[in-house]
Amino acid sequence: MQKITIAIDGYSACGKSTLAKALAAHLHYTYADSGAMYRCITLYALRKGVIKDGSFLEEEIVKLLPEIKLSFKFNPDTKSSDTFLNGENVEKDIRQMVVSENVSQVSAIHQVRVHMIAIQRELGKNRGIVMDGRDIGSNVFPDAELKLFMISDTEIRTQRRFDEIKAKGLHHVSYSDVKVNLLSRDHEDTHRRENPLVQAKDAIVLDNSDLTREEQLEFVVKLVTDLTLSES
Ligand code: C5P
Repeated sequence: MQKITIAIDGYSACGKSTLAKALAAHLHYTYADSGAMYRCITLYALRKGVIKDGSFLEEEIVKLLPEIKLSFKFNPDTKSSDTFLNGENVEKDIRQMVVSENVSQVSAIHQVRVHMIAIQRELGKNRGIVMDGRDIGSNVFPDAELKLFMISDTEIRTQRRFDEIKAKGLHHVSYSDVKVNLLSRDHEDTHRRENPLVQAKDAIVLDNSDLTREEQLEFVVKLVTDLTLSES
C-alpha cells in the first residue's frame, strides 16, 4: 500500500504524540516529535547558560545551532522513539518544566525554525511518516495527504500532562503550574509571527475530550485506510 504523510497539529497536551506514536506503530511508519526538537534546543541553551531567568539573546541561541545534533532511536521498552541530543538520551530532561517554560520563545526564533524545518522535511522526504507539532500541516508538509487538528478540553489536557510529568518522576510540579504553562504556550504559539499554530484549511478536526486512545486510533486508521485505498 502507498505510504503517505500524516501531519498532526494542535494545542499543547492534546494527546498528539500519544496518537501519533500509536498510529506510526500500527502503520509501521516513522514517528517524529517536532516539539521534542524545539525542546532539545531549549535544553541545550539552558545547560550552556544562554537562557538565564527566562531571558536570552536570540543570536546566542542561533550560535549554538551548529553544535546540536539531534537523533531518535526506538526504545523497545516504551515501544516509541527516544530523543537524543549529541548522543545523550534526553527524553526525560526535555519534559522538565523549565524547558516547557522557555520552549515557546525559543521556537519563535526565525533561524531556529528554518533549521528545524529543514531537518523535519528531510525526515519526511520518503513519506511513511507521522509527525506531530504546531505547523506540520500548515507549513512543514503542506502536501501531507492526511492532516489532523487536535483539540481537547483544557482541564482534561492539563490532567493528562500532569500525570505524564509525575510518571516521569518529576514530582515537584503542581497541577496549576502545568495549566498555566499550557495556556501560556498556547497563547505564544498561536500569536507568534512565524509559523503560528493554525488549523490548516484541509485539516480534519479531532476533539478527543471524550474519546479513549483506542477510539482515536480507530478513527484515524479508518481515515488512512480510506485514503490509501482511494489513491491506489
Ligand atoms: O509538542 P510539545 O508541547 O512538546 O512542543 C513544545 C513547544 O515547541 C510548543 O509549545 C511550541 O512552542 C514548539 N513547537 C513549535 N512547532 C512545532 C512543534 C513544537 O513551535 N512544530
